[in-house]
Amino acid sequence: MRPVLSLELINIFYILAAALFIFGLKQLGSPATAVRGNMLSSVAMLIAVVVTLFNAEILSFTWIIAATLVGGTIGAVAAQKIEMTSMPEMVALFNGTGGIASLFVGWAALYNQGNTTLTDITIVLSVVIGGITFTGSILAWGKLSEVMPSRAIVFGAQRVFNGLLVVALVVCAVMFCLEPAVDSPYLYAVIALACLFGVMAVLPIGGADMPVVISLLNSYSGLAACAAGFAINNNILIVAGAMVGAAGMILTNIMCKAMNRSLANVLFSGFGAVKQATKVEGEVNPINVEDAFLILEAAQSVTFVPGYGMAVAQAQHVVRELGELLEKNGADVTYAIHPVAGRMPGHMNVLLAEANVSYDVLVEMDDINPRMNAIDVAVVIGANDVVNPAARNDENSPIYGMPIINVDHARTVFVLKRSMATGFSGVDNPLFFGENTRMLFGDAKESLSGVVAEFKS
Ligand code: NDP
Repeated sequence: MRPVLSLELINIFYILAAALFIFGLKQLGSPATAVRGNMLSSVAMLIAVVVTLFNAEILSFTWIIAATLVGGTIGAVAAQKIEMTSMPEMVALFNGTGGIASLFVGWAALYNQGNTTLTDITIVLSVVIGGITFTGSILAWGKLSEVMPSRAIVFGAQRVFNGLLVVALVVCAVMFCLEPAVDSPYLYAVIALACLFGVMAVLPIGGADMPVVISLLNSYSGLAACAAGFAINNNILIVAGAMVGAAGMILTNIMCKAMNRSLANVLFSGFGAVKQATKVEGEVNPINVEDAFLILEAAQSVTFVPGYGMAVAQAQHVVRELGELLEKNGADVTYAIHPVAGRMPGHMNVLLAEANVSYDVLVEMDDINPRMNAIDVAVVIGANDVVNPAARNDENSPIYGMPIINVDHARTVFVLKRSMATGFSGVDNPLFFGENTRMLFGDAKESLSGVVAEFKS
């Protein structure tokens, strides 16, 4: 006889876990308490998993142990091997695995005896949302890792096709609910159509709109888990799924605001598919490390504007070091953070926190922009799209309307990057040709180390 707990006791532990999840989530809201929040949430998850294993309804542990070993090994290896710059792709894959897991849980719930119509509806919901999340996330992973073009892919009659797909999906889902069975052809049709719809929904989204997709898929993975929780009548899955779903929706809203777009516009307009930005031409003004040092040494106020290139160069530690040297030199130093800089929400905050940059000197886009005229030097470290003035000035630009950090309003701008290449959205940047812009070409970490060495010599 294996030890089992009563359902009442299990649910009491689930309430405890849910409360810890809520406190954990709350603490994740501030960098100062985030580590504790993460710990609390992990403990909550451990409690939820362990008490579930004492459920009397578990028939066999063989598959649970096998899946834990396989999943645990993949997770441990991935955690060791994945570079920090690949975290966004990793997050996309996590969302996808959450989706497929919910699909399978929903599907498996069909084998339960005595399902009601409501249960069948939640089963279909978990299969549909799980399927969409799975294939949508795989496609998002492809776009983020650039194994496929990251731009929006559109074709004629795409909306009509997608509309018909949704109608077919709804019809098959209703047919299944009318006559639910494990081997119902409508169930297979629902799975296939949901997976196809995931691909079709993410295909026309690309370029600078990807942050919205990532957070939306994150939300979907939570909603799928929530539906699966209803399907198997598991309270903690319902609560945890609802929290992920709601948090993802809030994040999606924040990302939409950061892009100055409505969710419908992001989902259905096809980023940059029609618009062609005005060609940017002119002369750039390159600068070397020695001259950059001289200008920085004389500066009273400096703001660093990090972007994806800082993550690639792993330049965050040397940025902090330079910031400290500038402060010692009497300059006022800030770090201007754009909400979609990098490749995942909060990417820059995480990197700067890792380098022990104090949270007090991080300034949000809306707060730094009105002060930009008074900044002596804005140092752009591997950022491109988020400082592209075309978003403000060029109505033909695919990124037109996206709020940017107005570094071009600073007295002098240094742009640290390796070449004249475009950023993630593939849009040219007139900033590089600005009169007050100086291009410091090279790997950002090497360039900044050079400036630091000048300060120290
Ligand atoms: P961008 O992708 O626009 O630009 C990054 C720049 O970094 C490139 O132009 C590149 O130029 C430079 N770079 C790369 N490696 C190095 C290096 N070693 N040293 C110096 N520079 C380097 O980044 P931004 O942060 O400005 O913008 C983020 C973009 O990603 C936006 O379009 C956003 O919408 C999108 N996105 C954001 C997500 C999020 O959640 N934050 C998620 C998905 C997409 P070069 O090659 O010449 O060095």
